Amino acid sequence: MTASPTILEGRLVLDDRVVAGRVAIEDGWISGVELDDALDRGAAGDRVIAPGFVDVHVHGGGGHDAMGDRAALDGMARHLLRHGITAFLPTAVAAPLDRLVAFAGHVRGWLSDAPADGAEPLGFNLEGPFLAAARKGAHDPAYLRVPADVPAAAFEPLVDGLRVLTIAPELPGAVELIARLRERGVVASIGHSAATLDEAMGGYRAGGTSTTHLFNAMTGVDHRAPGLAVAALLDDAAYVELIADGIHVHPGLWPLILRVKPADRLLLVSDAISLTGMGDGRARIGGLEVEVVGGRVTLAGTSTLAGSVLTLDVAVRNVVASGVALPAAVGAASRNPLAMLGITDRGRIATGQRADLVELDGDLRVLRVMRAGRWSTAGADTGRAI
Ligand SMILES: [Zn+2]
Repeated sequence: MTASPTILEGRLVLDDRVVAGRVAIEDGWISGVELDDALDRGAAGDRVIAPGFVDVHVHGGGGHDAMGDRAALDGMARHLLRHGITAFLPTAVAAPLDRLVAFAGHVRGWLSDAPADGAEPLGFNLEGPFLAAARKGAHDPAYLRVPADVPAAAFEPLVDGLRVLTIAPELPGAVELIARLRERGVVASIGHSAATLDEAMGGYRAGGTSTTHLFNAMTGVDHRAPGLAVAALLDDAAYVELIADGIHVHPGLWPLILRVKPADRLLLVSDAISLTGMGDGRARIGGLEVEVVGGRVTLAGTSTLAGSVLTLDVAVRNVVASGVALPAAVGAASRNPLAMLGITDRGRIATGQRADLVELDGDLRVLRVMRAGRWSTAGADTGRAI
């Protein structure tokens, strides 16, 4: 006997428009979508139903660090789900190679045991160690490595489960590593880089697929010395991550990104640290002390940004408030990151898609989150909007 379908009613965020309708869910999957204008006028008109968000660059949250123990990964996954994130990549910062190998093994061992009431891990992301010292941001310079100095055999233990790796393309051996990763199905994300325009374009040509936090920790749009940001904007195939907290990239620049990049290549990411959702405070991230004051995260005692306390629900609200259409904002937080990872069985409201969904109120605050057809805890939405 099959249970009767769950029916959700509200304003549905489809690929290219928002329309009132119903979604039927059976056995964890969307079994039907019915559009119905009349729903717009009832109570359902105040509810927005969108695909669950997917954060491919997140270091922690709710007091938990992605590089912590099993309980920390559990806690981080639950924190993310409460903000509408149904899938994520736990992301490591630069660390000694043996420490990264331990992180990889630890996440792999946890994947099948991750809590059902948390965001689902899809593998992991390594932001280091192949970063340019001149654009290291908040990564410990002691742990940065040059790809040519790391033999393939030493890198191999990291590959299983690795979905995204940040690389500065100008480093010796970087282009070769990018090509090798592409063959293995790992996304090379160009970033933390002092590349010239030519070096940056070479990184994408070699197989670079994405761009780690566009404009942050990279050569930019200088009219005499264009850098990585220009290559990322002008390469239509390249994905670009945006940390839409209003701190990392001034909102005045967002329309430039939106006008230049194809809509399916924008990724909203949080780059959030463990202190997200915890108010002001201090923590150690990858061996360095960081502090949060009024929503801004810096290396303690400096003005260097060290990640964010953003969550993707807030990022979506921020870009919508800046004038971006809701379907494009939601796509950048769901369908696009999934497509980058080659995952197409979810991320859209359509028959046959997995029922990873988020229900939002009229102000886009999280009400409820559904993962694989199962409701989870009500949203505990404390994120700070800009
Ligand atoms: Zn990061």
